[in-house]
Amino acid sequence: MIPISALRFTDEDERNVLNVLRSGNIAQGPRVAELEDAFARGYQAKHAIAMNNGTTALVAALRAHEIGAGDEVITSPFTFAATLNAILEVGATPIFADVSDVDFNLVPSNVEALITTRTRALMPVHLYGQMADMTSLNELAKRHSLVIVQDAAQSQGASHRGRAAGSEHTATFSLYATKNMTSGEGGIVTTDNDEVADRLRLLRNQGMRARYEYVIPGLNWRMTDLQAALCLPQLARYDEMVAQRDRNAQMYSAAFTDIEGMVTPSVSSENRHVWHQYTLRITDSAPVSRDEFIEGMSARGVATGVYYPRAVYDYDAFRNHPLVRSQVCETAERLGRQVVSIPVHQHLTELETEQITDAVLDVLGASHG
Ligand SMILES: *Cc1c(COP(=O)(O)O)cnc(C)c1O
Repeated sequence: MIPISALRFTDEDERNVLNVLRSGNIAQGPRVAELEDAFARGYQAKHAIAMNNGTTALVAALRAHEIGAGDEVITSPFTFAATLNAILEVGATPIFADVSDVDFNLVPSNVEALITTRTRALMPVHLYGQMADMTSLNELAKRHSLVIVQDAAQSQGASHRGRAAGSEHTATFSLYATKNMTSGEGGIVTTDNDEVADRLRLLRNQGMRARYEYVIPGLNWRMTDLQAALCLPQLARYDEMVAQRDRNAQMYSAAFTDIEGMVTPSVSSENRHVWHQYTLRITDSAPVSRDEFIEGMSARGVATGVYYPRAVYDYDAFRNHPLVRSQVCETAERLGRQVVSIPVHQHLTELETEQITDAVLDVLGASHG
């Protein structure tokens, strides 16, 4: 079975981690600082602050902007639960604006229609490796004096009009095992706001500025040098890795033209897509249902993934939550029934990408070109 994501570490990765093990300092130390510097430099960010995972990165970002009870945060309903959980964790009210079925991201006019006097922040999710329309969202935020916290967990290295995710406002990244770059668990917050950066560093370390000098209440959200050491070589080869993902994606999109009932992902000419996922839509006019497509791919030795099967509010845990208002986002709900991702990662061989291409064409009964 060809997996949807694969991990392969190099000798350099192993040596880097081993050096930390032998250094006697395995908690947060110089390697974390090095990763923060390299990440900030790489993505045009003023500050980068490492965290223990992408979910706490989101919680920390909201806390650092002092967003909490009574504040409304407008976000995407077509996302992983972490986005919503982080908003609920700080006691804020999530408001869902419907997404586009072209890029799977927030539609700025839908966001604008939901802005009230209680709106404090916009939280776009840059899904699958492509950024939301930040030009319009920045303009909205400016006009309404709103904070922007971007969930860029899937979009390290993505850019919009030449501006990298993380280069403006506040953005969070995940280094979870399935993400483009990984330390097993890990997260990074970037911000262009000095005060927010200061609070983030305090929040992740018990609110301490110096030993036993507590400035605010905080927690322990620190990353370790072991994790940072694993990431540093990956960061150095990140562009090469994205280039391979991009070649795979281009190859699929060239092979999948004019297939009845299937829609390939589209990339805005203003964006650099980093292909965390290559996501197809299987529509009603396809010869098979989305779930039959998945079974057919599996029978041909190809694993697929559904990210995500439902709008995030559409679970009992959230529907019955006092802070979640009942809302319907029709596009997000339809996408939940249509999307399916096929393997696009950098470790696929040419033989495997051919097998995947043939499987897709075969399952949809399309002729091999
Ligand atoms: C992975 C992910 C997160 C959470 O990151 P973790 O490191 O797993 O906590 C948040 N948002 C999105 C969109 C993600 O894909």
